[in-house]
Amino acid sequence: MLDVGLTGGIASGKTTVSERFQELGAIILNADRVAKEVVARGKPAWKQLQEWLGPHFFLPDGSLDRKKLARLVFTDEKARKKLNSIVHPHVTEQMFARRDCLKKEHPRAIFIWDVPLLIETGMHEAVDIVILVAVPKEIQIKRLIDRDRLSLEEACQRLNSQMSLEEKKPYADLIIDNSGSLARTYWQLEKIIWPRLLQLEEDKHKSQRETIQ
Ligand code: ATP
Repeated sequence: MLDVGLTGGIASGKTTVSERFQELGAIILNADRVAKEVVARGKPAWKQLQEWLGPHFFLPDGSLDRKKLARLVFTDEKARKKLNSIVHPHVTEQMFARRDCLKKEHPRAIFIWDVPLLIETGMHEAVDIVILVAVPKEIQIKRLIDRDRLSLEEACQRLNSQMSLEEKKPYADLIIDNSGSLARTYWQLEKIIWPRLLQLEEDKHKSQRETIQ
């Protein structure tokens, strides 16, 4: 079993890459998906958010008004930190619980932890290897605008609210260059990254067996 932290910046290509990893045989643990679940109505994080934000950040059906919250946290650093301090511990706990459960059935699996805030939250220390999906800033902004239909100003604001990809690079063991075509990115995954992950898993498995014997 190997725990692989996959991170990057907004619209750098984490989802694109993790989908390909899944096709290659990895098991994906997606922090954004888990984050949506832990803030669902009635869940512990939802209750904490209600106490913090008050009722005007919730829709008539009781669910969180994500768009309103996104506007707040992308312009207010203190609010963003507070949101992360509420949601992230629940996300981490859930992801570990899931991994532990899946591990029983798939003891030799490659788990891809798709976590945008892997480094910011210190989760990079809990995985065996860190992969960064990197693109130059201009491409990141263009893809973000195209995907989310944002203005240039909104896109820059979102990008500037994050730790930059350059700042993340020193934490990465492997970097996937996603600035070219999808075919080029998939080629890197299939020919370089995936075989390396399989080898690392094999090495880890062997050394664990040797420790036991
Ligand atoms: P976020 O963290 O914001 O959810 P992400 O890191 O998961 O983003 P993706 O959603 O995978 O990023 O990619 C961002 C956008 O860029 C998507 O519309 C995707 O289709 C597109 N994209 C990703 N990689 C490439 C590529 N190599 N060539 C062209 N478009 C790409």
